[in-house]
Amino acid sequence: MGSYRIAAIPADGIGPEVIGAGIEVLGALQRLDPELRLAFTHFPWGSDYYREHGVMMPADGLDALRAFDAIYFGAVGDQSVPDHVTLWGLRLAICQPFDQYANVRPTRILPGLSSPLRDCERGDLDWVIVRENSEGEYAGMGGRAHRGHAIEVGTEVAVFTRAGVERIQRFAFELARSRPRKHLTVVTKSNAQRHGMVLWDEVAVEVARDYPDVSWDRELVDAMTVRMVAKPKSLDTIVATNLHADILSDLAAVLAGSIGIAPTSNLDPSRRFPSMFEPIHGSAFDITGKGIANPIGAFWTAVMMLEHLGERENAARLMRAIEEVTASGVRTPDLGGTARTADVTAAVCDALAAVHA
Ligand code: ATP
Repeated sequence: MGSYRIAAIPADGIGPEVIGAGIEVLGALQRLDPELRLAFTHFPWGSDYYREHGVMMPADGLDALRAFDAIYFGAVGDQSVPDHVTLWGLRLAICQPFDQYANVRPTRILPGLSSPLRDCERGDLDWVIVRENSEGEYAGMGGRAHRGHAIEVGTEVAVFTRAGVERIQRFAFELARSRPRKHLTVVTKSNAQRHGMVLWDEVAVEVARDYPDVSWDRELVDAMTVRMVAKPKSLDTIVATNLHADILSDLAAVLAGSIGIAPTSNLDPSRRFPSMFEPIHGSAFDITGKGIANPIGAFWTAVMMLEHLGERENAARLMRAIEEVTASGVRTPDLGGTARTADVTAAVCDALAAVHA
């Protein structure tokens, strides 16, 4: 058990609501386990900060974050600031310099919830998507020329390095190995994209040789959407590029019940830098400030953060409490219920006390 320094960056939209709820349940967890000490420091960065200062975070923001054990992040995006400014100004401005190259997104149907897929039972959908998080289509390479003229051009160059591809595939094979099914699906688009994506395929064959106990297959990203819907049971661990996995994991989340429940971690597996934990959903402007945001994604995210910190028992405890609450029927409107964020938060705090007793 230990003491950890956590940087909280709730940022935009429903971020402050769900991160506030997450800190509340982590507080309840600490009260039950006095040896667990989580010291939160709040950073008021995001779109409001941008309106005041012209930047999403200060120039020395990364230095301020460096000493923390983890970052607990809400959501970024604002209706009056362009998305590329908010995203590159905050989330990617942290992920890339801190080399958080492995974005891990577990998805499964929690007790009491159901999939919109007609014949999909709870155990039929149990996946972890590993998203390459440092290069690919979101490497930031490209540019604009002839601005404002009829011949204006914009290029967006996907960057795939052998080192970058190999490290994410190794990470995914390791993760697949740690799960009961020991199966990995490598997703590309190597029929149409014949350079970087073919490199992915070739590296997968090489890396797979080191994991003879892990079965693996390949899928093109378009066929993958069909397989996720038609044969969810055939999948377990999945690895894909930055863009492909970004899209597939939103689909995965909704197939498991709601985008409001899905967590993610942006990991620097070398632990040179703090890793960052966030629900996969965005700012959700349509429900911001209404008190009905589903906090389960932020809670599950806290579970991933505790696991990363080595707090396995506390992580398992919190996950059990979350599952008891989903099973009990306390649900926000995105899951068909009438509960408010505060109701779900209180229910998870109560369930924690019961789990601990
Ligand atoms: P981004 O591009 O930043 O991922 P987005 O604009 O594509 O975000 P979201 O902000 O995630 O999408 O919202 C998509 C839909 O899901 C909205 O209708 C939103 O209300 C709903 N939603 C997202 N998160 C939650 C949540 N935690 N609870 C309830 N509904 C949510």
